[in-house]
Amino acid sequence: MKKKSWKEIPIGGRIDEGGTAMEYKTGSWRTFKPVIDKSKCINCLQCWMHCPDSCIILKDEKMEGFDYNYCKGCGICASICPVKCIKMEKG
Ligand code: SF4
Ligand code: SF4
Repeated sequence: MKKKSWKEIPIGGRIDEGGTAMEYKTGSWRTFKPVIDKSKCINCLQCWMHCPDSCIILKDEKMEGFDYNYCKGCGICASICPVKCIKMEKG
């Protein structure tokens, strides 16, 4: 996607077109990223239910990892995990 100059950005930064969320790789905003220790994961999927950006990747209905293209590093998954197998690391 071609980047717009400041003269082309709508006043107030409003979004003129719906359904474009996938085009914006918001993971670049991140300072900390979640990292999982799968050996401790009990697959309760609390992280999947609470992630505000739908970044938890499931495989065969089990926690597989994170979509770092869109994960903003909010830390909710690490906070909600009942067995504390998600740690937030710089990066
Ligand atoms: S909240 Fe923790 S234990 Fe539950 S699925 Fe996510 S990583 Fe695994
Ligand atoms: S850090 Fe936030 S955005 Fe990233 S996977 Fe966890 S809950 Fe989702």
